Amino acid sequence: MGNTLLFILVVSQVLLPGPTVAGKTVTQRQIGEDESGENKKSHEHNKDQNQWSMDYEDCGKTAQSPIDIMTGLSLSTALLSIKPEGYDLRDQEKKLTLLNNGHTVQLNLPDSMTIHDSFEQLYRAAQLHFHWGSKGEPGSEHMVDGKRFPAEIHVVHFADKYGSLKEAANKSDGLAVLGVFLEVGSRTNPFYEKLFSYLQAVSEEGDQHEIPPFDIRGLLPDHLERYFRYNGSLTTPPCFQSVTWTVFNNTIQISQDQLSQLENTLKMKHQQILSQNFRVPQSLHGRKVLASFNLSFKTRRMGDPGAEAQDELSSRGNTLAIIFGCLFGITLLAFIIYVMHHRKMNQRSKKETHSNVIYKAATSTEEA
Ligand SMILES: [Zn+2]
Repeated sequence: MGNTLLFILVVSQVLLPGPTVAGKTVTQRQIGEDESGENKKSHEHNKDQNQWSMDYEDCGKTAQSPIDIMTGLSLSTALLSIKPEGYDLRDQEKKLTLLNNGHTVQLNLPDSMTIHDSFEQLYRAAQLHFHWGSKGEPGSEHMVDGKRFPAEIHVVHFADKYGSLKEAANKSDGLAVLGVFLEVGSRTNPFYEKLFSYLQAVSEEGDQHEIPPFDIRGLLPDHLERYFRYNGSLTTPPCFQSVTWTVFNNTIQISQDQLSQLENTLKMKHQQILSQNFRVPQSLHGRKVLASFNLSFKTRRMGDPGAEAQDELSSRGNTLAIIFGCLFGITLLAFIIYVMHHRKMNQRSKKETHSNVIYKAATSTEEA
């Protein structure tokens, strides 16, 4: 019986992998790969970025952006969902200005677009822009648990009370920026296409182009209640520490073609391709990163829109494995009991047969 139990335990171990072990292994491998790739790039980028604080004092201060968001160190807290209003510009007659400023591609936005609820005051939109890498090299500014994403969009807002982006830019509560990670999916994103289809028109540094207004809300994730929040800065000089950052947990998918357009179309001075326009992550210096959602029960792998579905599937798979494991164990046990019982019966039957023989022999002796 001891051997039987051991066998059942071994079978159970094979059939019942821990529910989170596989996911963790994959995540750790991704972190390792990203970090090793990152070091080479960081070195090149740092040469320039390390000089920023010589000319702009704030760039060397202790509340700089971007950061690497460590989900394990983030604090889950009750924060209201972001409420964008006036983002649908389809009825607006005035066209929107798209421009290549040599650092990024920027779309100027009307200040009728606002965000509130999650903030202590009303913020008005000013512009949105992008950060990206180059072919095969991701280029988001923020990172999550060591992972960099292919690209990141920033929608910049200023506090209504300051009246303009310029006035608000250096005030501690002056700006609110929404950050969304862009990843590659299988389909062309129709909202991003409304902007990316004009990239060619602003390919040279200094180019401007008027584009038809569209629903800017479509550039953000469907769900705006799950995000990370921290106090930081502009990610380019003068690096003012005036930004309340909101980095959404849900990512947006664009096609590989769309990402390639972003990576390869725009040029800066001397006809050089404008790429890898991200700042390296800055130290937290004790700052707290808040999460508007519960991180304690399970840390979502960012950049995996199917993570929830996968978790559910994995959980179902584990339940099935447990059921089959138990059924298998019970069947095996029943079989072994049956075999042992059968063997006993055989032995008894043999004994009886043997005594019959003796009895018969005795009889036969008597007969003889
Ligand atoms: Zn930015």
